[in-house]
Amino acid sequence: MSYGLTPFFIAQVLIMTDSNVNVFGKLYIVATPIGNLADISFRAIEVLKAVAMIAAEDTRHVKMLLQHYGITNKLVSLHQHNEDKASGVLLEKLREGLSIALVSDAGTPLLSDPGMPLVKLVKKAGLDVVPIPGACALITALSAAGMPVTQFSFEGFLPRTSSARKVFFTERLNLTKTWVFYESCHRILACLQDMAEVLPLDREIVIARELTKLHETIVKMSLSEALALVSNNENMRKGEFVIIVDGAEEDDGKQLMTSEQEKVLRILMRECSIKTAVAMCVEITGVRKKILYQAALLIDQEKIYLV
Ligand code: SAM
Repeated sequence: MSYGLTPFFIAQVLIMTDSNVNVFGKLYIVATPIGNLADISFRAIEVLKAVAMIAAEDTRHVKMLLQHYGITNKLVSLHQHNEDKASGVLLEKLREGLSIALVSDAGTPLLSDPGMPLVKLVKKAGLDVVPIPGACALITALSAAGMPVTQFSFEGFLPRTSSARKVFFTERLNLTKTWVFYESCHRILACLQDMAEVLPLDREIVIARELTKLHETIVKMSLSEALALVSNNENMRKGEFVIIVDGAEEDDGKQLMTSEQEKVLRILMRECSIKTAVAMCVEITGVRKKILYQAALLIDQEKIYLV
């Protein structure tokens, strides 16, 4: 199989990178594989070979990919700690007529990855930003999940603390569309445990792990089954994860508290901890603990709890 450059493409990039011609360079946003090195487009390889330089999140990491495809282009570093400063330098290069490719460690740049300041800056300067599409973990997971995808919400990475995660889940309890997030192997178990404290245990979720790699696993099951699987199987706590959560049934949106019951909870929360307030409110009102706990988290965050 040949990954040679097409004459048309070379001509296009040469025009853009010839400083004698009064044109600016283009910024190419190039998607790279999320595991399997073969998951890259011919066009992505053409661009990576033809640009004047490649801006990469981790230059050592991207070298493996470039070596695999015989690409020897100059690499410059653009990561979350230097991107404001580096973006200005790269804009100058584009103004000089040099074209640049932006890549991240895996998948599509800017999706939970660096690059936004650069893209904003380049667009503001009126220069071209050209997407070169390819792999993306969330879309790859959704394509094989068997969950509704006509409408979905991408949530990126979740908060790192348990309390913030519970608030996050509470806020999405009644969301009727599919939602998707990224999670690290270090927090996957704690994340599912927190989810199980807030969402109904029969809510369907998909765990998409190590996509396109040797140990790719895509399982669709109830939240309680998923929690048991990840708790009991060490391998299910390794690698990279995309989690997809089925939307709530329309009926789940009905709140089960009256305004009087909410008032009792609010008064108790003024005097004691959330845990004690919820426990006392269960006794006083007879409302289920889970409902009260979810309401308490929202009240605690100064959110309006609809009755
Ligand atoms: N820009 C990337 C994309 O297009 O998907 C995502 C970058 S984000 C910093 C990395 C996270 O994406 C990982 O922590 C994991 O949650 C998810 N991810 C990346 N590759 C994956 C894979 N092969 N399988 C499952 N999840 C993956």
